[in-house]
Amino acid sequence: MTVPTQTPRTVAGAINSVETLEGAGFLVRQPFPKSSFSEFDPFLLLDELGPINLKPGQAKGAPDHPHRGFETVSYVLGGRLEHKDSAGHAGLLNPGDVQWMTAGAGVVHSEMPESMFTQTDGRLHGIQLWVNLPQRDKMMPPRYQEIPAAHIPVAQTEDKSVTVQVIAGEALGAKATIQTRAPITYLHFTLQPGATKRPLDLLLIAGVPLNEPVVRYGPFAMNTEAEIIQAMNDYQEGRIGQIYA
Ligand code: FE
Repeated sequence: MTVPTQTPRTVAGAINSVETLEGAGFLVRQPFPKSSFSEFDPFLLLDELGPINLKPGQAKGAPDHPHRGFETVSYVLGGRLEHKDSAGHAGLLNPGDVQWMTAGAGVVHSEMPESMFTQTDGRLHGIQLWVNLPQRDKMMPPRYQEIPAAHIPVAQTEDKSVTVQVIAGEALGAKATIQTRAPITYLHFTLQPGATKRPLDLLLIAGVPLNEPVVRYGPFAMNTEAEIIQAMNDYQEGRIGQIYA
């Protein structure tokens, strides 16, 4: 039996986030996509919403919009988000909860701050990652995995200086409950300070590159231009679905 060796790797580069508006006009910090986004294969997008303290009426979300060909992973760190979709799913995400949505052949969904939250002051903070699907899974039936914070495995080093929430993959002997279509690691580490600094939070996200052609347009990510045109036609003609109140 061969024991895998762990070889430390050097940092290939550091990338700054760009501030951009999403959905109905809420500000996010976005490290990618950029023109050279393919270097992040199999990931398509990373957004950090907030942390921001909102006044009543300021919270905006992403009303009804489609997705096809990839997965959206929403991780709520502060505030509450409501979601609804064309397949009849609906739910509320609280701090620490993760929703791993495999859009596959397509859903139309809405992602909004919870209605009560929009009427009161509140702190909103969330992370959204888009994970590309391999060609064989792009038109799979949509599915959801909603993992409440209490069901996300947590592990700690013996000296308790490092805590990790295992959202996908494995770390410090703990294994995630979420199933991914291709091997993905998504870990939220909290490092305790050595002196008087606040604890440091970091996300470690890793995956095996798909090495397949990517053609993307807005909320669609497929392998060919013809498939993107098909996705747009399917959405415009109502074949991806719609949300009923
Ligand atoms: Fe969405």
